[in-house]
Amino acid sequence: MFSQTQIGIDLGTANLLVYTKNKGMIINEPSVVAIDLHTNAVLAVGEEAKRMVGKTPENIVAIRPLKDGVIADYQVTTDMLKHIMKKVSKKLGTPLRKPNVVVCTPSGSTSVERRAISDAVKHCGAKDVQLIEEPLAAAIGADLPVEEPIANVVVDIGGGTTEVAIISFGGVVSCHSIRTGGDQLDDDIVQFVRKKYNLMIGPRTAENIKMEIGFALVDHEERMMAIRGRDLVSGLPKTIDISSYEIQEALKESLLSVLETIRATLEDSPPELSGDIVDRGVILTGGGALLNGMEEWLSNEIVVPVHIAPSPLESVAIGTGRSLVMMKRIQTLKQR
Ligand code: ADP
Ligand code: MG
Repeated sequence: MFSQTQIGIDLGTANLLVYTKNKGMIINEPSVVAIDLHTNAVLAVGEEAKRMVGKTPENIVAIRPLKDGVIADYQVTTDMLKHIMKKVSKKLGTPLRKPNVVVCTPSGSTSVERRAISDAVKHCGAKDVQLIEEPLAAAIGADLPVEEPIANVVVDIGGGTTEVAIISFGGVVSCHSIRTGGDQLDDDIVQFVRKKYNLMIGPRTAENIKMEIGFALVDHEERMMAIRGRDLVSGLPKTIDISSYEIQEALKESLLSVLETIRATLEDSPPELSGDIVDRGVILTGGGALLNGMEEWLSNEIVVPVHIAPSPLESVAIGTGRSLVMMKRIQTLKQR
């Protein structure tokens, strides 16, 4: 007798992760697909696709099919899933024996898109495919007691979106989502450097700047970084030194929209749950949680405790992988 394989997929806008109960995280790669424009064939996915960017003939392009938090290109998304499922069975060492798959989809996706995802996974041999709401998966993965009738507040700052949700008794009580996430912060840096220094930098440079010297808090010890780009006046490569204070200024507006979304969700909270929030605070998940000073800045602003999940980039995938067991328990609880 072989045990049923259970697979959780986090179909993130920036990263695609696959978690299985027995083997843990088996895939963790950027959600990037390299496509041959002549034939529309998918040449590579994930890390391999990202490495090809800008180093291949013109007909080969790299696409992020989920970029803005919705499925921008649905054919490419399903193709990417098929490749990933192949990688999964390779990693597990056996052809998948009708696995049970739970996929966490971006909350902005439509029912047609959800159906397409589910069909694509089924196509790859899955026995049963379930979709889960992202904030619920994040909360499970962050080890929050989602089954209890108490308020768990999750703030998931991903690449394309930020989602804020209050979860209690196995369900989402209230949820707000905005199309501002890590990608927007990168773009803020690109725009800032272009306007202030007439220097054009690429999105990957901007992301590096954000991770190195990006701060959510105004009040921090200044850091400097040398950055390279193309001078818009001379057209030549140029290096400048930039300060973390300048970057903080550049990120301010987007961070404020994240803050507003959190406030709006907390204001929406049923009064009986508000007490829990004051006691238990807010949990941060997603890559954006790792921005320097995020935890401290938010707790100053919303005046409730703020904690970062144990591994914020993996919370959703872990939660998705664990959710099958959890769902059954929640069902039984509710039937009592
Ligand atoms: P998604 O769920 O949408 O795929 P992730 O939760 O994987 O997104 O987060 C990806 C985002 O997190 C990217 O925008 C990335 O730049 C950002 N990120 C990752 N690490 C850090 C860090 N140390 N500081 C700031 N941002 C980070
Ligand atoms: Mg995510």
